[in-house]
Amino acid sequence: MLRHSETKIVRHTKVRGNKFPYDGDLVYWSTRGAKLPGINTRVKNLLKKQHGVCPVCKQHFLPDDLMEIDHIIPTSLGGKDWYNNLQLLHRHCHDFKTTRDGSVSLLNVEDTPF
Ligand SMILES: [Zn+2]
Repeated sequence: MLRHSETKIVRHTKVRGNKFPYDGDLVYWSTRGAKLPGINTRVKNLLKKQHGVCPVCKQHFLPDDLMEIDHIIPTSLGGKDWYNNLQLLHRHCHDFKTTRDGSVSLLNVEDTPF
């Protein structure tokens, strides 16, 4: 049987209390070893601008979340590829929004929540 003194103490670094996932401080998250696959300047800037929050579900992005850049006004409806027309959404929130913003079908325009 092992004695307590023989058990190695492994200390884990805790997430600092004032930190939310993807609050725009990607340096912090990078240093915590968060997976940031293919994170590009646009995504970083949008994360910062949105304070790490998805505008559709109002939840903070977590390091493992799938994120997509959305055109607030769909390009098919004349929306531009400019920052003020871009937002970062969870993939599933993007799907939800896309079915309701008129970019796929105009059938649901009247019940769009946006
Ligand atoms: Zn979301």
